[in-house]
Amino acid sequence: MQTEPGLWPSENARGYKIPDVESGTLRPIKVIGIGAGLSGISLAHDIQQNGKNIQLTIYEMAPDVGGTWFWNRCGSTVMSILD
Ligand SMILES: Cc1cc2nc3c(=O)[nH]c(=O)nc-3n(C[C@H](O)[C@H](O)[C@H](O)COP(=O)(O)OP(=O)(O)OC[C@H]3O[C@@H](n4cnc5c(N)ncnc54)[C@H](O)[C@@H]3O)c2cc1C
Repeated sequence: MQTEPGLWPSENARGYKIPDVESGTLRPIKVIGIGAGLSGISLAHDIQQNGKNIQLTIYEMAPDVGGTWFWNRCGSTVMSILD
């Protein structure tokens, strides 16, 4: 365990180093999303707009995004909700 005179230990017995981080600093958070349908895309958008220090990974089993809207294509046509 490392100690410096007059300070708390900065490392524990197993070698874990206590990071020297200013109070109030946000720590990075890893977020995993399963599926890139509307919900997953919405999650990505929300994190991009409002998230801070968030590392997002979305796993999708389809070869592309879209979810229901990807799986229910007819050829190159996608059912439109705007029609
Ligand atoms: C024919 C049809 C028409 C519809 N029309 C409308 C409509 O007009 N308006 C409306 O609001 N809603 C409609 N819906 C409902 C539509 O499903 C939802 O609005 C919306 O698509 C749901 O989004 P979602 O992201 O929650 O789920 P989904 O779109 O189902 O996305 C889930 C994603 O997760 C992926 N996934 C699942 N399991 C795994 C796994 N284990 N690992 C990795 N990836 C995984 C899937 O491949 C998919 O891409 C319709 C549904 C169908 C089937």
